[in-house]
Amino acid sequence: MARPQRKAERPTSRRAVRYIYAFGGGRKDGRADMKDLLGGKGANLAEMSRLGLPVPPGFTISTEVCTYYYAHERTYPPALRQQVGQALARVEQVVGRRFGDPANPLLVSVRSGARASMPGMMDTILNLGLNDRTVDGLIAQSANPRFAYDSYRRFVQMYGDVVLGLKPEGKHEEDPFEVALEEKKRSRGVTQDTQLDAVALRELVDEFKALVKMRRGVVFPEDPEEQLWGAIGAVFGSWMNARAITYRSIYRIPESWGTAVNVQAMVFGNLGDDCATGVAFTRDVATGEPGLTGEYLPNAQGEDVVAGIRTPLQITRAGARAWAERQGMPEEERRTTRPSLEERMSSVYRELLRHAGQLERHYRDVQDIEFTIERDRLWMLQTRVAKRTGIAAVRIAHDLARTKLVDRKTALLRVEPEQLQQWLHPGFAAKATHPLLARGLGASPGAAAGEVVFSAEAAIEAAAAGRRVVLVRVETSPEDIGGMKAAEGFLTARGGMTSHAAIVARQMGKPCVAGCAALEIDYPSQQMTVTRADGQRVVIGAGMALSIDGGSGAVYQGEVPLGPAPAGRPEFTRFMSWADEARRLRVRANADRPEEARLARSLGAEGIGLCRTEHMFFEGDRIDTVREMLLADDLEGRERALARLLPMQRSDFIGILREMRGLPVTIRLLDPPLHEFLPHGNQEIAALAAKLGTSAARLRAKRDALHEANPMLGHRGCRLGITYPEIYRMQVRAIIEAACTLARERVKVLPEIMIPLVGAAAELRILREDTERVARAVMEAAGTKISFTVGTMIEVPRAAVTAGEVAAVAQFFSFGTNDLTQMALGLSRDDAGRFLPEYVRRGIYAEDPFVVLDRSGVGELMRQAVSSGRRARRDLKIGICGEHGGEPQSVRFCHELGLDYVSCSPYRVPVARLAAAQAALGG
Ligand code: ADP
Ligand code: MG
Ligand code: MG
Repeated sequence: MARPQRKAERPTSRRAVRYIYAFGGGRKDGRADMKDLLGGKGANLAEMSRLGLPVPPGFTISTEVCTYYYAHERTYPPALRQQVGQALARVEQVVGRRFGDPANPLLVSVRSGARASMPGMMDTILNLGLNDRTVDGLIAQSANPRFAYDSYRRFVQMYGDVVLGLKPEGKHEEDPFEVALEEKKRSRGVTQDTQLDAVALRELVDEFKALVKMRRGVVFPEDPEEQLWGAIGAVFGSWMNARAITYRSIYRIPESWGTAVNVQAMVFGNLGDDCATGVAFTRDVATGEPGLTGEYLPNAQGEDVVAGIRTPLQITRAGARAWAERQGMPEEERRTTRPSLEERMSSVYRELLRHAGQLERHYRDVQDIEFTIERDRLWMLQTRVAKRTGIAAVRIAHDLARTKLVDRKTALLRVEPEQLQQWLHPGFAAKATHPLLARGLGASPGAAAGEVVFSAEAAIEAAAAGRRVVLVRVETSPEDIGGMKAAEGFLTARGGMTSHAAIVARQMGKPCVAGCAALEIDYPSQQMTVTRADGQRVVIGAGMALSIDGGSGAVYQGEVPLGPAPAGRPEFTRFMSWADEARRLRVRANADRPEEARLARSLGAEGIGLCRTEHMFFEGDRIDTVREMLLADDLEGRERALARLLPMQRSDFIGILREMRGLPVTIRLLDPPLHEFLPHGNQEIAALAAKLGTSAARLRAKRDALHEANPMLGHRGCRLGITYPEIYRMQVRAIIEAACTLARERVKVLPEIMIPLVGAAAELRILREDTERVARAVMEAAGTKISFTVGTMIEVPRAAVTAGEVAAVAQFFSFGTNDLTQMALGLSRDDAGRFLPEYVRRGIYAEDPFVVLDRSGVGELMRQAVSSGRRARRDLKIGICGEHGGEPQSVRFCHELGLDYVSCSPYRVPVARLAAAQAALGG
């Protein structure tokens, strides 16, 4: 590109609303903090200009125009045309070329850019301004007809697709442009795009245009002005295309934001071997390790790196070596066939390294940079905060804080609590002994196993049926988003570390192996042929089991079991300790068994918030004793059975209390509806009758007598305790005996006995007195004293509303928000699946209330309960033990309510710890 020639005039008059912001070539109307108006890409292009980095000149059409466009039946504000004309004139002056000039044409790219980056969602058009006349000007500028026709060919293809809508019809059709391109290569006897000469490319331009005419019924526009407005319209139009809408709904991006459009002078990475295009990250976004990483392609343009047409090369020498090692390629071969940018263009590489460092320090975060090299000159085309895996997110936040580039608060706020899952969810258990099928790029770490599906639709279907799947595609595209969400992991035949599949995988935190060239996928027959390293070919059909390791890139046949997680590493431990220092909420775990308690402790749990005793009742053949108790005709029969359950319960409690020594353990007395314990089928009844020495008919009659029409609201929880007091008495006795046993061993125990499903203070009063009577008796008999508390779960709305009365009897509250949500919303969780998704889709409820706590309904009940509960009893301890206790937004709410702790399943504990820290930090 030519150097600036004249100083540009200011494009806008004072009075007109400003729709256009210029960047590059000395102008920087925008700034990084103007993302709302300029979109992320535009704001950062302006910021890079501000920093003095080489940015090709251009301008941003603001998101306000997008808003206007949709508010005014897809038309533009009247002043826009003139402002675009002026801004374009400035670019012409800076570059020294004119748009549409047949002798010396300016070419531009038209790039979309929303506030939040939406990878691949919006389409960019390159080389705009080419037609049958200006192409000659481009030949004159470049003295390179092949380049000119290559650019022209790309332009017609992109414009034909994005603006004129010539796309594959149906999921099995290939891109018609690609078919024509393949055909051209075949007819010329070549395999690479780069081997096609100018004549062939020129023929392709005509063939592409003919395709457009035939399939879309429109003549390809020759007029650059018309091309430009067509492209601008297409960018705004794409804000409402199906895949953008899907993406927004997954990532909760409001429709009202709109997108900006960037029009920018082209720089060319496809002018020859001293040209290239690439993508770089200032650190490794898979592992978080420091050091520039990334990929480039010599003599290529735009999306070539991402599109996976050629396998890109590594930017650094170290990266290239590691790559070759994974591929089993000898170093000599690697150096000649796969040189890194560092080796090939060392001074440009050093400049890139400098800019990358400057950008990372400036933004104080890892950057994802797009660049192009035109005749040994580096141009910066984009920078943004890099997406990263959960593993990398923690590592990077940790490292940046340790080197003081950010403070700890910032570091803690940078990691999405959900991302911590990746530290906990493991790779393959043992060294996989399953047959290694192939190796691709380890594009997103973690391991996944499941059955093969070849389409997004199949993935969604299988996941809905509860099956785990690995999505296998030649490459993925934004249309596949839904299926990617449903799959355990992705495997693609093409594409590099920056391919669509790789980016989305890291974002979703799913394992991905990309660019696995050994796969030949045949969609119509729903199978693929894999050529193994030893040359053997294996056919894998849809539905067969497959395992992938997104770290090493290995693909195995069959289902490899998963194993330990990286959570023991020091950066994780340190990062989590910062979170612990920052938070006020305590975090406990829901755990019923000693192994779970041990796991929870190792993940940082500070107690058990919910130990369900019914699980203990189901273990092994205990269930028969439980059934015997429930089906007994009289108290005597029940007590006989309970006496047999007592030692079993006691040993359970010894196990769990011992494991949690020194930490509180909330034990909930028996809760579930009776029908869950009763025998169902005739066979089960017959077997049980034989065991109990009674008749099947009697058992059946007994079972029928216990039948309830609505068991969830029936004879359960404390109602059972009121009517069959001997059950709770046995449980209390087991708990206190266990505690006394341990106390004698000098193990510190803190049991909290929790009575479920209380709706009235009187229920709790009766049961608490009973509990204390039993406890006293046990302690007397044992000659040991232990301290314990008695409290209740708040899950019946009435208990929340009368919390003052309840608190007079309860020493603690624990919100059982699963039941509280069901009862407050009058919504059965087990049945809501039929209509709730539509409710959420239509915004009746913003979120699934069983996932994210319903603040204004359930939350309001909680607020009432907290305030009247604390009024009645100042030191009332309050926690939450529903599923919501491990969900970040709900944890934040619990923090705001002033709860003492949240409790969640063991694997959610780190998530809750970080969410609690973030809530305390006010992020
Ligand atoms: P996306 O949002 O999908 O990343 P971009 O607008 O960044 O789309 O465009 C994709 C690629 O097109 C860029 O990474 C760059 O390689 C190329 N590109 C865009 N504009 C230009 C330009 N003015 N000159 C050269 N290449 C460009
Ligand atoms: Mg980009
Ligand atoms: Mg409950």
